[in-house]
Amino acid sequence: MRCVAMLALVACTGAAPDAAGSDAPPPTGDASGQGDGGGGLVPGTLAVSWMHGSQSCAQNTDPELQVHAYNATTHILRQNKCDTFEAPFIYVLAGSQKALVLDTGATNTTTLRDTVRSLVGASKELIVAHSHAHGDHVASDVRFSGQPLTTVIGTNRAAVETAFAIAPWPTDEGTLDLGGRVLDVLAIPGHEGTHIAIYDRETGLLLTGDSLYPGLLFVNNWSDYRASMHRLAQFVATRPIAHVLGAHIEMTATPRQVYPYGTTYQPNEHVLQLAARHVTELDAALTALGATPPAQPVAYDDFVIDPP
Ligand SMILES: [Zn+2]
Repeated sequence: MRCVAMLALVACTGAAPDAAGSDAPPPTGDASGQGDGGGGLVPGTLAVSWMHGSQSCAQNTDPELQVHAYNATTHILRQNKCDTFEAPFIYVLAGSQKALVLDTGATNTTTLRDTVRSLVGASKELIVAHSHAHGDHVASDVRFSGQPLTTVIGTNRAAVETAFAIAPWPTDEGTLDLGGRVLDVLAIPGHEGTHIAIYDRETGLLLTGDSLYPGLLFVNNWSDYRASMHRLAQFVATRPIAHVLGAHIEMTATPRQVYPYGTTYQPNEHVLQLAARHVTELDAALTALGATPPAQPVAYDDFVIDPP
C-alpha cells in the first residue's frame, strides 16, 4: 500500500489485451468465492464477509483479527481496519510437518501468534515469512522470534534468497515443502525489493502481497515491477490458479473506484480474490504503458497501477 495521498486517476480506456494467448488454461477463480478444485486442486471457500471497519471506530466491536477457514489447512486472517487502516490479510498454510505464516501484520500484539498456534497446533514448525518487508507486513515478527518451533525469515534479500533457495535472484524459482504440501516461491521485486509471490500447488492459491490486489498498486521500481509481473504472468499461464489473493482491499465494488487513502470504513469493498486473468491483464497493461512510467496512476476495473 502506498503511504501518500492519492492523486487523480487516469482511467485506461478499453480492456487490456489478453497476452496469454489461446493456449492458456482458462482461469478458474471468480468473484463467487467458490474455489472449484479444478486441475486436481483441493477446494476451499471464499464465501466470507470480511470485517471492514466502522463509520465511527469508537463504536467498532470487531475482533482484532478475523479468521476465515478457506479449508481445513488454509486460513486467511484480516486485521481490524479500526486498529490499522491498512487492514492487511495474513495467510496460514499448513502441511503435515510445517506451517507457513505469510506476513505478521501491521500491529504488534501477541494475538496473531496465539491465533496461528491455535489453528495449526503446538507440534508443527512455524515458518514465518513475508510477502515483502514493508512495516504493515512485519510488525509482529518480534512476537514470533525466539518462540519454540518457530523460524522467522529475515526481511533482507540475502535471507529471503537463502530461505527459499532462489538463485539467481530474481529469475530462479524456489520452493518450500511444508510436508506433503509444496509451495513455489517467486521473487517479484518492484513494489519492494524483496517481494515474493507464493503459489500453493495443493489449492492453486497464488499469494501476491502488495504486488497485485484490488487497490492501488504502488510501484517503486518500474522496470523491476514490469519484469516481475511478466514472469508471474508466464507462471500462471502454465498452472491451475484457483484465486489470486493479495494483502489488502482498497477498491470499492464499483469498477475503477478506490477508497480515500487512510479510510477506516469500507462498507462496499471489492472482494479479496482476483483471478489468473488479472495477472495477465496487469502484465499486458504494463507492456502497453511501456518502459517509461506514466505520470499519474492508471485505473483498471479491479486494480490501479500507481507509478513511481
Ligand atoms: Zn507494501
